[in-house]
Amino acid sequence: MGGIAIATAGAVDREAASWVESCLATALGIDTERLDPLPDPSYAYDEGRGQYSSTLVLHDALARRPAHAARLLVITEHDIFIPMLSFVYGQAQLDGPVAVLSLARLRQEFYGLPPNRPLFLVRARKEALHEIGHTFGLTHCNDPGCAMALSTNIEQLDAKGSDYCSGCATLLRDAARVACDGAELAVRSGGIR
Ligand SMILES: [Zn+2]
Ligand SMILES: [Zn+2]
Repeated sequence: MGGIAIATAGAVDREAASWVESCLATALGIDTERLDPLPDPSYAYDEGRGQYSSTLVLHDALARRPAHAARLLVITEHDIFIPMLSFVYGQAQLDGPVAVLSLARLRQEFYGLPPNRPLFLVRARKEALHEIGHTFGLTHCNDPGCAMALSTNIEQLDAKGSDYCSGCATLLRDAARVACDGAELAVRSGGIR
């Protein structure tokens, strides 16, 4: 059964991780599985920036993806970055096996506002769908209501929808089926257990 594996890295809101898992399972219609928690990604900490390198987290994830899982999504509470941007909500390998999602900037508290749990969870859903969409080869969507629309700030994230548009959903389900079948086949024929 090739599907999406999900792992938390370091101390992570467990309910949010379970919510993300169920969102991916229903939105993509494929199996998900929860891996044992990964250690805190202290190796990715950049002292100069006070943030964690999402590229290094992705690199680590590549080595940890179980062969039977088509994709691995790592969830962290740490604020993550790529060199050219001040932060990212997540990063994914385009048409590749791994993605990372940061919950750090999805809570209202980050912006000095009172907590809003439902808003936090819907933001996590949007970002998880977005990053996993990239792993299945989807690029940014011009439909502002689609989860694959680009969002570089919290207003844009809140403005977009929490599902894929019909075009992205169709592309995604086809790509996900191929990738999951491929992962299953690799395990069967490759002797990987
Ligand atoms: Zn994107
Ligand atoms: Zn779309």
